[in-house]
Amino acid sequence: MIEHFRKNHLPSFALAGCLLLIALLGWTSESSAAQTAIQHSDVVLMGENGKDVYDIYGISVVSWGGRAWEEKPAAIEDFRKRVKTAHDCGIRYCSGAAFRTAFAGMIDFDPKWSESRCMSIEGKPILVPWLWDQKHKDGHPAYWFCTNAPGYREYLKWQVRTGMTANVEGLHIDDYGGTSGTEWSGGCFCPHCMKAFNEYLKKNVSTERLAKCGIASLDGFNYGQFLKSKGIVKLDDFRRILGSAEHLGPDFVRFQYFASADFIGEVRKYAEQLVGHPLLVSVNSGVTDPKNLVVAPQVSYFCGEVDHGTEKYAWGPQKNVDLQPVWTFKLADAVGRFQACTASGQDWAYVDANKKPGLVRRWIAQDYAFGHCLMAPHRQWAYTEKKGTHWYQSRPEDYAHVYRFVRRNKDLFDGYEAVGLVGLLYSSAGAAQNVGPTRDACLWMAKNSIPFEMVSAGDSWLDAKLTPQSLSKYRALVVAEPTLLDGEQKQALDQFKAAGKVVAWDAQKGLDEAALAKLLPKQIVFSAPEHLIGVARAIPGNVASPVIVHLLNRNYDQQADATVKLQNVKVTLGKDLFGGRTPSKAALYAPPASLDRKDPGASAPVSLKVEPAEGGIAVTVPELDYWGILKLE
Ligand SMILES: [Zn+2]
Repeated sequence: MIEHFRKNHLPSFALAGCLLLIALLGWTSESSAAQTAIQHSDVVLMGENGKDVYDIYGISVVSWGGRAWEEKPAAIEDFRKRVKTAHDCGIRYCSGAAFRTAFAGMIDFDPKWSESRCMSIEGKPILVPWLWDQKHKDGHPAYWFCTNAPGYREYLKWQVRTGMTANVEGLHIDDYGGTSGTEWSGGCFCPHCMKAFNEYLKKNVSTERLAKCGIASLDGFNYGQFLKSKGIVKLDDFRRILGSAEHLGPDFVRFQYFASADFIGEVRKYAEQLVGHPLLVSVNSGVTDPKNLVVAPQVSYFCGEVDHGTEKYAWGPQKNVDLQPVWTFKLADAVGRFQACTASGQDWAYVDANKKPGLVRRWIAQDYAFGHCLMAPHRQWAYTEKKGTHWYQSRPEDYAHVYRFVRRNKDLFDGYEAVGLVGLLYSSAGAAQNVGPTRDACLWMAKNSIPFEMVSAGDSWLDAKLTPQSLSKYRALVVAEPTLLDGEQKQALDQFKAAGKVVAWDAQKGLDEAALAKLLPKQIVFSAPEHLIGVARAIPGNVASPVIVHLLNRNYDQQADATVKLQNVKVTLGKDLFGGRTPSKAALYAPPASLDRKDPGASAPVSLKVEPAEGGIAVTVPELDYWGILKLE
């Protein structure tokens, strides 16, 4: 692949010609197929860097890779050099565009920029709240520009064009939400949004329902005026009606989120046409709720902040805060997308202030064990209210050996998916009302090494359908209220319940473990059960391939910033994990304890004796630090 990149490295000349040449040169089908998916063993870096950093971590994908800063040969040449440095290391490169924070660029780009601003219900331009301290040119504040405005779309496409001036493999879009997200700031009521919402209502809302809201015809209809006629004139009034069907509040919010996702799809197509091959497209998002999932069909993977649960910023129950990212991973699995994470700004501030690389190594292990990844934390944005923005700078000695271990053992990761013998119902409608109980159930199942996956029930926000067929593969289904299902999806759930296969999650008491065990005997049991987790993964449709069980030791000693190593841990594994087969060989893989620059990430697997056990097999792990990987065949 490196040779291929070299061949295609282009000399510098003007933008249009360069894009045409890229399109004409094309891309080999072999490489383009590999371009559009992240592999489970990929090591992703946030932002470009130099060869030394790429090499030591074994970086395979650069995300947030920037672009040519202007449409001039020198800027394009500079960008191409940056991309070439990565290509020479065999890295796939994703250039970057910013959809919400580039207000200064828009003011410079378009003399009519004022026509593209998001406008509130009060008729005032909306500002990006967290850029409150920024000004541009004659003291212009950070306007929140509207992604439904043609002028702003032109500017964003210009950004994308400059990001495609090198033969990149992907595009990362920062703050992709654009106008969606302005609802809490009272928007957006600009003329472009009003026109587009009118079209949306025609296509999506019945005349009967409109009539109930007092709307006889959509000819000349203006949503802002409609609200004003009902006395909704202030920001607080508008916030109150966001959930009110008679004010079309939920319709307006949904319109904005789908308009934003559609625009990402348009941008993707545009970028792919420019560069002449499929792209690895990502957006800055950690998947946590129904609104985040709307864009999933338009992207190859999610790439953004996922709270890793340090201190008071965590939402998870105190004992399980370290498992918080699992919720995001299971949700991303449910829509078939990879999640490359960075931890939150508060997480990095904690690691920085308290010097806790051992904690971060646990995050790396956990994120890969669940099939996703923590981006190599070379230099990370850190934030606290007291200190504001600052940076956490790590050393390769802290983490590089763990990433290199992953790269050396790709075959333990690539192609593998979670063994999902138990389903956990994710109802999009239920999650919109109260996602808490389903999230709690998810963490409990992860903590108890249940081999599970999320099974989706759709609504107007999520294109999925719960059917008897989609449920038939599960031995049991865990259900947390509220589910808010009706029609065929409710019937499917009721049928499964009637067959005795549903185990209810009780918001107070949790789950009846005995009831679950009757449907599926416990598949992963430890002789030292406290704070150990097993995550089983297999290659779907390939019964001959080994089954992988990640062992995560959660006995983390904060003071020592180290995991308490366990000796002679017996792991009993149920035969259902292996599709009924009985493995006869087992080996334990683990990352080396430190970075050996001569042989980074090297460690010798240990052969383990496989013994028969009730319901399956057992192996004894002689020593377990924070992460061990069992390969069973
Ligand atoms: Zn607008």
